[in-house]
Amino acid sequence: MKNISDVNFKHKIVLIRVDFNVPLNNDLTVADNSRIIGALDTISYIIRSGGKAVILSHLGRPNGKYRLNLSLINIVTELSKLLRHKVVFIQNYLEESAVKKINDSKASSVFLLENMRFNKKEKLGCENFAKNLARLGDWYVNDAFGTLHRDHASTSKIASFFINKRCFGFLVEKELSALNNVLKEANHPFTAIIGGAKISSKIDVIRSLYSIVDNLIIGGGMAYSFIKALGGEVSNSLVEEEKLGLAKELITEAANKNVTLLLPVDSVNGSEFSNDCIINKSEIDNIPKKFAGFDIGEKTIQMFCTTILKSKTIIWNGPMGVFEMSNFENGTKKIGLAIAEATKKGAYSLVGGGDSVAAIKKFKLTGGVSYISTGGGAMLEYLEGKKLPGICAIED
Ligand code: AMP
Repeated sequence: MKNISDVNFKHKIVLIRVDFNVPLNNDLTVADNSRIIGALDTISYIIRSGGKAVILSHLGRPNGKYRLNLSLINIVTELSKLLRHKVVFIQNYLEESAVKKINDSKASSVFLLENMRFNKKEKLGCENFAKNLARLGDWYVNDAFGTLHRDHASTSKIASFFINKRCFGFLVEKELSALNNVLKEANHPFTAIIGGAKISSKIDVIRSLYSIVDNLIIGGGMAYSFIKALGGEVSNSLVEEEKLGLAKELITEAANKNVTLLLPVDSVNGSEFSNDCIINKSEIDNIPKKFAGFDIGEKTIQMFCTTILKSKTIIWNGPMGVFEMSNFENGTKKIGLAIAEATKKGAYSLVGGGDSVAAIKKFKLTGGVSYISTGGGAMLEYLEGKKLPGICAIED
């Protein structure tokens, strides 16, 4: 497998799969350009070497249908501004005219194709669709870390049409190196902090983390299922009843694997899911009737921070509470601050998953952590040890 920096792209037409799945404002301008910025190194490198860039991406979940509010035409202005280069948008990229337009263009031209997911064959991983896309270029570069766990036409299937002419982009190289850093070369103590709404989406990662971490901190909505499984009264808190048995198993497994599992001991509760509700504080296993736990309490914060500050490697995925509401943001904020402090003292910290990244941004801690991953799902699956289709397709 080649490294992108070893490839000479001069006179080549390079299909670059990126992740431009960015949030848009009501007027359809880009609300957060981080993901576009993430792909700039790769695009710039290719056009600086005299290659043409043909960019492929998805945006949102259009379910195989055209929708103006999910069209990548909305990204053209921002991409062009950030790249300081003209960007030509191609809507009907499967027509012969698209091939001709790209072939006839001058060196270093940049094209952005319409949202791949407007065609239902993208998500179905249709070989024929991938083959038609492949006709547009003579090299394939995958720089879409956020979709490496998808077996879609433009993320994995397409690579088979570029034997010896495919590689990862700089962003994917950087992401994989950050993840390998924690998987293979972590300094100890190693602490993983897992939060967010549900256990169900994070069971596999919790299990896999048991074999590499010393401490596993659980916060957020999913903690209440663990507390209920232990016999605690969590009242109206988020609970996945069908996962209580599993929560118990995960508690036993941690002990068997010598992992210190830290669960919250106190909770900040609300009378309803609103920032303006009635609020009280309690032990986490004794939440008053009609209240739900929306954040970790002070004792928990202290306990979690003590462990974080002693750690040399830290992974964080998922908030500690409903951090979007100011009355329930404290736990997530304090954990973020502790991670930044540990990082300052020399720990390596890796944060990933849409909501933890949003929290890091909200609390202005972006510069305080070692690495922010651009892909939550892909990051979790990689940590779980799964073979990601987008990686296998390039490496095979
Ligand atoms: P996830 O996508 O699973 O990482 O979940 C992130 C979401 O979980 C965020 O939008 C949080 O507001 C939400 N969340 C975190 N803690 C709680 C809680 N205690 N109760 C309900 N929702 C929560």
